[in-house]
Amino acid sequence: MKLPYIIIVDDDLQVLRAIQRDIRNEYREEYKIAATESAAEALELIKELKLKNETIALFISDQKMPEMEGIVFLEKANEIFPDAKKILLTAYSDIEAAIKAINKVKLDYYLLKPWHPPEEKLFPVVNDLLDDWHALYKPDHEAIRIIGFQWSPKSHVVKEFLSGNLIPYIWMDIESDPEAEKYLASTDVTKSDLPLIILKDGTYMNDPSLPDIAARIGLQQKATKEMYDVLIIGAGPAGLAASVYGSCEGLKTILIEMKSPGGQAGNSARIENYLGFPTGLSGGELTRRAVTQTLRFGTEVLTPQQVKSITLKDGYKVTEMMDGTVIHSKAIVIATGAAYARLDIPGLENFTGAGVYYGSASVEAHACKDEVIYIAGGGNSACQAAMYLSKFAKEVNIVIRRDKLSQTAANYLVENITNTPNIKIIVNSDVISCAGSAVLENITLKNTKTQEETTVTAKALFIYIGTKPGTGWLNDVILKNDKGFIITGSELMKEKSFHTFWKLDREPYLPETSVPGIFASGDVRFGALAGISSAVGEGALAIRFVRKYLQEM
Ligand SMILES: Cc1cc2nc3c(=O)[nH]c(=O)nc-3n(C[C@H](O)[C@H](O)[C@H](O)COP(=O)(O)OP(=O)(O)OC[C@H]3O[C@@H](n4cnc5c(N)ncnc54)[C@H](O)[C@@H]3O)c2cc1C
Repeated sequence: MKLPYIIIVDDDLQVLRAIQRDIRNEYREEYKIAATESAAEALELIKELKLKNETIALFISDQKMPEMEGIVFLEKANEIFPDAKKILLTAYSDIEAAIKAINKVKLDYYLLKPWHPPEEKLFPVVNDLLDDWHALYKPDHEAIRIIGFQWSPKSHVVKEFLSGNLIPYIWMDIESDPEAEKYLASTDVTKSDLPLIILKDGTYMNDPSLPDIAARIGLQQKATKEMYDVLIIGAGPAGLAASVYGSCEGLKTILIEMKSPGGQAGNSARIENYLGFPTGLSGGELTRRAVTQTLRFGTEVLTPQQVKSITLKDGYKVTEMMDGTVIHSKAIVIATGAAYARLDIPGLENFTGAGVYYGSASVEAHACKDEVIYIAGGGNSACQAAMYLSKFAKEVNIVIRRDKLSQTAANYLVENITNTPNIKIIVNSDVISCAGSAVLENITLKNTKTQEETTVTAKALFIYIGTKPGTGWLNDVILKNDKGFIITGSELMKEKSFHTFWKLDREPYLPETSVPGIFASGDVRFGALAGISSAVGEGALAIRFVRKYLQEM
């Protein structure tokens, strides 16, 4: 089996030897380690490794090198191995340069010299980055293969499901990859039955349902206990945080997710405002860490399982799933967040998954290589997606209703977008129609000031026009406001009907809904501050009150 590489570059021979020695001592069993004093020489080696089909997991480069600055080296190396992790070695005096590099080369870490003792300052960082890298990398022979048509909605659903559940796969387009034909020929599946999923053990499934795939790849879908202390609905940041705090505090905790863990945050190409991650991290990385953490504490995570309804029986809560199974619990935390608002233009739904995507930038980015694509919406998530897609597409056009992006997006994103030459902003405009045969081919834009309509070729349209609360499934047992957000705590007491539904002597707890023992946290709660940190905080807070409620029972 080929081992992945760690590449180290430092012009100071003494430092190079020291870091090479530490890295070799710790990682030589699982990685090949190559070290050089010259950035130019390292780039030659990297190109050679690419030609030989080798993989690189990590670059470690010094910043101050006379021949080429570390940032420049990492930028060039990133073009050849974009998935490899990147550490810049800096002295105190270079910290400013390192911080600038975070945006420029999407640096994963800057490590201050000296790093002794390595057990404290070097290995934990490197271990963390290598774990992240491994989570998304699988050698060819170990990965699941999906064979299908690039612009097929069914293939898109499978890709989105696997990537959301952090299962690495190899995508093979039947129309452009000759290898895909060979795999197809080795089965009795025809092109009309695609997508074909080939598992690691060589067995295959054609056009499977998501629960079928989940069962075959070992995701848990059924509860194992008769009764749980707390059942959490939705595995976005709020639900994941609630589950970590719940099981960490010894509660029997179950977490139900209808798609894949991560929620909206799982779609984020780069989260830059989460405390403690100065270089940012992707939604996938944050989710992987949170899921690992909650499983370690003993939470049962069921995915994909969609909650259909909640009823009350003898003071206990009965949660029914779409597949008819029921789970009993003493308390519930609803953390169903929000889902992308749909763009309401005729015919658009026909192309969902076939050129039109809600979120999914990271799943479909490779399909946009060298294409002209459009993004509808000008909020932070639209801008993050534009930045990510600009690395693949020839041209990314952001279509916004207002006349400036700065009215809807954070400053740092506006700045990044302005400095990215292949991103254009189309102001005062709406997408009003779309057309294509089997897949999206063009869209029509209307300038809302001049009323002028323009039809443009579009390989893909990514839609980020806001969200609406994930409460469509909730019956009237739980009080919502006119927009569908769940009302909690003191806000409930402002309702005229408060005394008709609230019979306890105490007031509702801060995150408690109109039903005692059912709590809401994150974006789904009326009055919550949208955002990952707030959702995480709210998830943790809900558990504090779940405990109080359990003591009262
Ligand atoms: C593309 C994008 C980028 C973003 N980037 C940032 C950022 O950089 N920084 C930041 O602070 N915020 C960011 N946000 C906002 C942030 O992600 C949200 O505020 C946050 O995810 C809300 O968390 P939540 O847990 O409340 O809900 P969500 O993240 O919406 O999660 C809800 C979960 O519940 C599940 N669910 C819904 N209904 C059911 C049901 N009936 N049964 C089972 N499961 C169900 C959903 O599938 C989903 O996984 C971004 C949002 C998007 C869309």
